[in-house]
Amino acid sequence: MKAIKITASITAVIMILCMSSCQSSHTTDIFAMDTVMTITAYGSQAEKATELADQKIRQLESLFSVTDSDSDISRINSSSEFEQVDSDTISIISRALEISDMTENAFDITVRPVTKLWGFTEKNPHVPDAEDIQSALKTVDSCNVEISDGKVKCTGEIDLGAIAKGYTASCIRAIMEQCGVKHAVLSLGGNVLLIGTKPDNSSWNVGITHPKNSEDIIGILKAKDTSVVTSGGYERSFVQDGVTYHHIIDPETGYPADSGIISATVVCSDDTLADALSTAFFVSGVDKSVQYWQRYSGFDMILITDSSVYITEDIFDDFQINDSSFSVVKLQK
Ligand code: ADP
Ligand code: MG
Repeated sequence: MKAIKITASITAVIMILCMSSCQSSHTTDIFAMDTVMTITAYGSQAEKATELADQKIRQLESLFSVTDSDSDISRINSSSEFEQVDSDTISIISRALEISDMTENAFDITVRPVTKLWGFTEKNPHVPDAEDIQSALKTVDSCNVEISDGKVKCTGEIDLGAIAKGYTASCIRAIMEQCGVKHAVLSLGGNVLLIGTKPDNSSWNVGITHPKNSEDIIGILKAKDTSVVTSGGYERSFVQDGVTYHHIIDPETGYPADSGIISATVVCSDDTLADALSTAFFVSGVDKSVQYWQRYSGFDMILITDSSVYITEDIFDDFQINDSSFSVVKLQK
């Protein structure tokens, strides 16, 4: 028995709108990158900025898609030569390689030969043969990505699924700034981008999806001018022979990550980093993620295991948990 479950789990953004504010707002829903995206911007330039953001999302989707055969990524994946690509493709790939190094390859865009076998983005995902996983892992291990003069060459295949929405968020942030939008909130699947504060100058409230019941939220984080990105196994999974398999792959084993973390949230004003790290931490587990947090500054996190919620000190007081069955741990440097 196989059943696919794609939870359109838009991390609930609870916007307690400022009733007294006279700021006009503009909201748009966009289906792109396999998810429903919602943009709400405030102020006189809101509509124009939202339209520009919509165009940028579609442009990036057409560059980064692995299903569209004309995309930059498909051309890189089907060729063994240097391919001329857009400057956005160069930027996202160089960032991805940097973050792979930083996380000892827990985040690894070259994992595509393995994710392809699992078929999460296809109609019939299934557990691949163990031998096929081993041979795909060899391709991943020997994969080399080179960037030179606006061109990219890759000996294996790449998949930007774990970083594309974060990079998109960073481009939208730039558009909003250029348009003079001071307050905006974007929900791109598990990624939430907060521009400034709410129009009444208070913090936004971001609901973090409950990893054991994705219809519900486990708690609310107060935040402003940052990205809040959650990676969870509940986002995309299938059941085969009574076992649930999710879409975040441990590049060491070729199987869905089993680190003990069931939800990893990263809070960081570097939107691209927030997205990639949330995937990496889901793979690395609590101990390694805490080590990374101690080594690199500039982000906060909420890591959830079956029984505990670990929250870094700087956001500890901003997170209100709804489920008392978890023990709460404050992470200190
Ligand atoms: P989502 O896209 O559901 O918000 P993530 O940002 O965690 O979740 O990205 C998961 C996607 O990234 C997978 O669907 C797959 O395409 C790709 N992926 C899976 N495992 C890894 C990994 N270890 N490193 C980089 N990308 C991965
Ligand atoms: Mg991610």
